[in-house]
Order: sequence, then structure tokens, then C-alpha cells
Amino acid sequence: MEQIIKKIQNSKRISKEEALKLYDLNLLELGSLADSIRKQKYGKKSFFNINRHINPTNICKDTCKFCAYSATRKNPNPYALTTQEIVDIAKDAVKKGAKELHIVSAHNPEVGLNWYIDSFAQIKKELPNVHIKALTAAEIHFLSTQYNLSYDEVLDKMIENGVDSMPGGGAEIFDEEIRDRICKGKVSSKDWLLIHQKWHERGRQSNATMLFGHIENRAHRIDHMNRLRELQDKTNGFNAFIPLVYQRENNYLKVEKFLTANEILKTYAIARIFLDNIPHIKAYWATSTINLALIAQEFGCDDLDGTIQKESIQSAAGANSANGMELEEFISLIKNSGFIPVERDSLYNELKVYN
Ligand code: SF4
Repeated sequence: MEQIIKKIQNSKRISKEEALKLYDLNLLELGSLADSIRKQKYGKKSFFNINRHINPTNICKDTCKFCAYSATRKNPNPYALTTQEIVDIAKDAVKKGAKELHIVSAHNPEVGLNWYIDSFAQIKKELPNVHIKALTAAEIHFLSTQYNLSYDEVLDKMIENGVDSMPGGGAEIFDEEIRDRICKGKVSSKDWLLIHQKWHERGRQSNATMLFGHIENRAHRIDHMNRLRELQDKTNGFNAFIPLVYQRENNYLKVEKFLTANEILKTYAIARIFLDNIPHIKAYWATSTINLALIAQEFGCDDLDGTIQKESIQSAAGANSANGMELEEFISLIKNSGFIPVERDSLYNELKVYN
């Protein structure tokens, strides 16, 4: 262990095996290693943005076992917003200060390709300055298979219609065996990475998530991060890594043991150490709870996502995020935890420092 610690202190890259071993270190020691990397990069700054999540439909042809959002499962209220409704939500969000719209949907085979794409063009026409972060690699794969288009064709359509960056969703866990058990039929790990690679090759940026705390083990998490680190070495297009804590309500996945805060914080810290080429590690408070996200700032995380305004996917599975958070409250929570809130744009340019 001493050798691994020395390597980290000397800013040397650690291997997968060494990353796995780090779980054996006590939490505070591990946290302090991750914290010193965070401090070197950002000092006491903690980033967030003023954003709005829009989830235009919950009708889905897929049946991921962990999903509580899709209408075909335990949730009996199917919906698909019209393009005008989506644009109206976007306008209202921007009026309330949102600079980013995070638009992700289920895989609805009934609404047609244009429904997915038209709202982006319409939003950009009416709100040219807002940043559109939309369509996960899972949605892109769905559109490609449903409408017989190549990934390149879907990605080019996104750009033509005003999508600025891609969210990191749909990655779940890359290990093929676990993936088959939790979301068989969804985009494969190989294709998830290929889609992001193609997006990065177009000079665009994206994020990457990892759903953890269900039936995966520690080695699966490290393998997941390793596949991301390998792609990032090639493309340098990921802005942030976002470990999403599995939410347990209203779904069909049988999980016996839930994660402790200790295990969640260790995973954040190892992500900060192992992913030496991904700039930001995000504690997405909608899945970790705001309290743990605030503590995660001392365990390598430098980003707390944003105010969200409204959120339907994690809250359907039990997260306390349905109505987002007021900006003043968000800022004061970060300040009171001893960090400096920095409002950023979607590509991490600093917009305002709240000293
Ligand atoms: S996670 Fe996404 S793709 Fe899977 S069932 Fe739910 S909405 Fe559909």
C-alpha cells in the first residue's frame, strides 16, 4: 500500500489493481489523498451550474431492471410532451435563470425521429444562448436502430439542430455480465464508448456516468473507470465523471445490501485518484443526497451539478430531487461547508465566484 500512496503523492498514474487495493485503505487516509489532488487542481472551489432538467417522455421500449421512471413498469402514467410544451418549459427555465437545459428521455418508439430532434432546433431558434445538453448514448443507439441511421448520422443531426454537448447517461456499468442482468437490450458498453468517441472526434464534449451500489462489485467499478480512462487518453473529450448512487424504490432489481456512506465516499475518492485525465468529479446530489454531496467535496469531488429546477428520473426511484433546489440555498450550503461556490457554464468556464 505504501508504494501506491507514494505513486499518488508523486502524481504517477496507478493501475487497475492498485485502484482496487485502495478500497482497503481507511476512509480518511484515502480521502486526504483525493483531497490533495482536488486542492492542487481547484483549491477550495466547488463548481455548479444553473440548469433545468427536462424529461420529455417516459414511454420506453426498453426494460432496465433498475428503472423507476419508465411508464411501462411500476409507474402507470405514460406521457410524451409536445414540442411546444418542451419549448415552453425551456423558455420558462431560461426566464428563471437556467443557462443549460439537460434534456434526456426514455426510448419512445411511437413519437418518431423528428419529435426527438425538432425541439432542439426550436429551442435554439427562440433561445440562441442557452446550452443544450441532450441525448444520452443510449438514446442515440435507440434512434439509430429504430430509424435505421448510423451513429454518425444521428450525431450530425444533433449538431445541425443545436445540441451543444452530450450528457453521460446510459453508461450504467460496463461489465457485460452485470449489464446483461440489469439492462439487457440497451446500448452495449462498446457502443456507448464508440458513440462518445465519435462525438469527441467532432470536437464536442460530453460527460460520463457510472451507476453503482446495485449488484456490481468493486472490481466492476474500477473496470468501468478504466474503460473511460482509456478512451479519454485517446480523445480528451470528457469533462466530468459522475458516479450515480443507485436508487432503490419502485423498480424490479433485487438488491440485498445497500451502500454505506463510507463505500460511496471511497468510490468518489478512488475516482478522483484513478481518473487522472478527466478534469471534474461530480457528486450528483440528486442521487447521493445533498448532505453526502457536501461531504464529498472533501473526498475529491469538485462539482455538485446544479440547481436542476425539476427532475423526474431519480426522484421516481426515491431521490429527493423532484423540485431541484433554490440558488440561494445551494450557494449557502456550499459556503457553509467551507468551500467557494463557483457558477460555471456547461463547459466549465467560470461565470461567477461567490466569495
Ligand atoms: S433506464 Fe432509460 S432505457 Fe432503461 S427502461 Fe428506464 S427509461 Fe428506458
